[in-house]
Amino acid sequence: MKQTALDLLNTLGVILPATGGRDAITARTPITGESFAMLPCATAVELEAIVSQSHAAFLMWRTVPAPLRGELVRLLGEELRANKLPLGQLVSIEAGKILQEGLGEVQEMIDICDFAVGLSRQLYGLTIASERAEHRMMETWHPLGPTLIISAFNFPVAVWAWNSALALVCGNSTLWKPSEKSPLTALATQAIFERAVKRYVAAGNAAPEGLSAVVLGRGDVGAALTNDTRIPLVSATGSTRMGRLVGEATAKRFARAILELGGNNAAIIAPSANLEMVERAVTFSAVGTAGQRCTTLRRLIVHASVYDTLVPRLKAIYGKLRIGDPLADGTLVGPLIDKLAFEQMQGALTSARASGGRVQGGERINETMGAEAYYVKPAIVEMPSQLAVMCHETFAPILYIVKYDGEVENAIALNNAVAHGLSSSIFTNDMRDMERFVGPAGSDCGIANVNIGTSGAEIGGAFGGEKETGGGRESGSDSWKAYMRRATNTINYGSKLPLAQGIKFDL
Ligand code: NAD
Repeated sequence: MKQTALDLLNTLGVILPATGGRDAITARTPITGESFAMLPCATAVELEAIVSQSHAAFLMWRTVPAPLRGELVRLLGEELRANKLPLGQLVSIEAGKILQEGLGEVQEMIDICDFAVGLSRQLYGLTIASERAEHRMMETWHPLGPTLIISAFNFPVAVWAWNSALALVCGNSTLWKPSEKSPLTALATQAIFERAVKRYVAAGNAAPEGLSAVVLGRGDVGAALTNDTRIPLVSATGSTRMGRLVGEATAKRFARAILELGGNNAAIIAPSANLEMVERAVTFSAVGTAGQRCTTLRRLIVHASVYDTLVPRLKAIYGKLRIGDPLADGTLVGPLIDKLAFEQMQGALTSARASGGRVQGGERINETMGAEAYYVKPAIVEMPSQLAVMCHETFAPILYIVKYDGEVENAIALNNAVAHGLSSSIFTNDMRDMERFVGPAGSDCGIANVNIGTSGAEIGGAFGGEKETGGGRESGSDSWKAYMRRATNTINYGSKLPLAQGIKFDL
């Protein structure tokens, strides 16, 4: 596996930096548990230089017309298309997700580039009727500044693209602090970006040095950047614990934060649901990326009338899941990221049993893959009711199932009775159930789907969640507005100076 990873890095044009005796992080694969390389963490002196350069890059980049900024993102999309397979494979190797999902992640990067290129000609502001004669009001949108992107291990490259493609067309420079568990895919993405810049410059355009930079390190590096007053926007993806720290630090200095944090996502199976559709959607949402997606389905809320039909069918499917090397054809479930994730899963299952939960699965398997490789059978846990263990996010493939009776409102109440508010869905063919779920008294999540699982969002919609998920939105729709500053301009083209609200102020 080490040689495969090094070959891919070579193909992608990555030269690994030497540690030079500095504090370092380990690049490894959860597939076998092997380590590939030690990579240096940025020092305080380096951080200072990187942020200065990013700020200087911003000052230049903000003056480039937005459609020309879009041209760079168009070239980035082309480079990503050309490198989809090796980058997708590297994502699988570093994050452990199956190749189909690794490729899907790179496809998301391509899709958001396409979206951002179009957006580069659509950074529209409003014109507003003025109450004063011979006055015009308008809103204009301007570049904001260096944008810090902090990302999690489980979407090691797509999150960068969601943020960067928008930030770049909006006129910002970007700094990327990837997860310490996925540095190689970040370096590979940066190499791809640099190839796009080379082509952009070769075509006669100017792009500043340091327009996009990767900063390696652990949480302390992320925290140091988060406190830097030259960075007006921090887009942080990761745990709620981390988001709370970033949220406090940015609020303290009045910087903006886009927080994309944990989830504890549920699906409601109503009496009229198409159970065949449910089986596939639930399984993909619950075991995809080995239960390590922010949108992973963790709670299944099943109507009593279909419970005894659906649950045995799901258990049978779980019994046949192909678990193993995520690069191998036909594998559906890869490994957990590391030992800590395995221990947290076991801890949650122990608590679930102690609360009366009936557990199928959860055991460690495939130990021959490596002593430090953690493969598990995804678990189904039938719970007597929605108890405490279900109400926090365990980042592992555990699907808790509870029964509900009566009207859909009872299920919606269970859906909403957790601290997170990222993704949710309902399976129903009853329009009243559906409308109640997506309506004002329905799901309180940022994503509320109908007859679709909780995971696998498209880039065109604004992505994010409420409550302890952090409230941020990135990707499609009008998320771009978070990356720009807005000015309201009132222009007097007359020869008098009438004051707003009719105020008299004669000198
Ligand atoms: P994590 O919080 O441990 O780490 C995420 C990133 O934050 C890493 O780059 C880490 O170095 C950095 N970090 C840690 N402490 C920091 C601090 N004090 N200041 C600044 N940066 C800091 O998360 P993880 O284990 O990599 O990822 C799993 C979590 O991420 C889950 O909770 C999952 O739901 C969440 N997640 C959310 C989304 C979303 O879009 N809502 C997407 C992916 C993952």
